[in-house]
Amino acid sequence: MTSITNHLPTAELQALDAAHHMHPFTTNDELSEKGARVITRAKGVYLYDSDGHEIIDAMAGLWCVNVGYGREELVNVASRQMMELPYYNTFFNTTHTPAIALAAELAKLAPEGMNQVFFAGSGSEANDTNIRMVRTYWAEKGHPQKKHIISRKNAYHGSSLGSGSLGGMSYMHAQGGMPIPDIHHINQPDWWSEGGDHTPEDFGLARAQELEAKILELGAENVAAFIGEPVQGAGGVIVAPDTYWPEIQRICDKYEILLIADEVICGFGRTGNWFGSTTVGIRPHIMTIAKGLSSGYVPIGGSIVCDEVAEVINAVEFNHGYTYSGHPVCAAVALENLRILQETDILHHVNHVAGPALKAGLEKLAEHPLVGGLNICGMMASLPLTPDKASRAKFAMEPGTVGFMCRERCFANNLVMRHVGDRMIISPPLVITPEEIDIFLERAQKALDETYAALEEGDMLRAAS
Ligand SMILES: *Cc1c(COP(=O)(O)O)cnc(C)c1O
Repeated sequence: MTSITNHLPTAELQALDAAHHMHPFTTNDELSEKGARVITRAKGVYLYDSDGHEIIDAMAGLWCVNVGYGREELVNVASRQMMELPYYNTFFNTTHTPAIALAAELAKLAPEGMNQVFFAGSGSEANDTNIRMVRTYWAEKGHPQKKHIISRKNAYHGSSLGSGSLGGMSYMHAQGGMPIPDIHHINQPDWWSEGGDHTPEDFGLARAQELEAKILELGAENVAAFIGEPVQGAGGVIVAPDTYWPEIQRICDKYEILLIADEVICGFGRTGNWFGSTTVGIRPHIMTIAKGLSSGYVPIGGSIVCDEVAEVINAVEFNHGYTYSGHPVCAAVALENLRILQETDILHHVNHVAGPALKAGLEKLAEHPLVGGLNICGMMASLPLTPDKASRAKFAMEPGTVGFMCRERCFANNLVMRHVGDRMIISPPLVITPEEIDIFLERAQKALDETYAALEEGDMLRAAS
């Protein structure tokens, strides 16, 4: 057996990685050429790679490490739970304390009237559950044809066949037979990219009304649900104009369409409330959760379900579940993570300490000649890059070229900031301090300056015509 430690030279690790490891969302041949960056450990908001770099993680892993790295409480709880009961299922009339306690705690944190939880292993799985749950709900109520689900272009709801179909990523749909039938996508409320000369308010309203048009086109009697992220994450941190969500709520109410809020990123403090639904003022029937639920320490997801839907589903045998639904170790770690978030009063930190510091700093960064604006909600933000601030123009080059250049400059300055197309994405651990935010901002400024200089030198600051 090969035993791999962090002490192997980086090049050897990279060669083994290239030989045997297929990375997600990656052209593996290209990665093999340059070698993957090997992350060896992490503490607080910092990552350490196999070459000894200390890198500030402004992405909280993949939007998930809300309490930061290296929390011993989570390690201890996992270890204790593994000794006591490492695994048991919740299928055959059995249950266990971690799943019970976590479900009860989630019901306490969730908005009123949402008191039931169906566990999954990830956000993708939870959204697959949601597809079957809303269709089963309507079928049991005598409306089996009410099965169509409306989502949005450029939404991200996961990568399995069902959740990837709910998502609106065209480059994902291009591979492997997606979307599955009876899923529809309306336009997203992305004013910065698509709003043209409209005011954000008019644009938000118009984009919400596309839901009404789609419902009328399909027939309200055929539409089961609408799904949306309160703030789109992977699509580029898109904060809808204020007019958008109230109109979506009105339309869902009017036509009796279930509302699913995908809280996988927005949940657990990221937007300044326990759930993004509270921040944008909607009343969902189902909330998808994952990521920050366990701060990414162990894989766990789920659906928090309102009483009205749960009552119908609980009256029948719902022929659905996962081996790891409510996994005791994952549930115990998630519960401890929720305890830490509450004990440290994370909402206060986000709303009154880290959030305002991040916003003030990013507003200054947004004055940079390469930055065309700022999208921010709590501790998630994006900076769209542009060759012309005034017109919010796109670059003449292939979309994503400049974003990628900037991401590489971030890496070179020991900063993880992701790019989505030509937007730079920020979603740090919620526990980040104002001092650490200053370090992040300094490195981000440097990366932007270097990107700008390279673009000037290559005569690449041209707008698409
Ligand atoms: C990441 C994400 C998912 C998918 O979660 P996985 O755990 O990767 O399956 C679903 N919805 C949103 C909004 C996400 O950001």
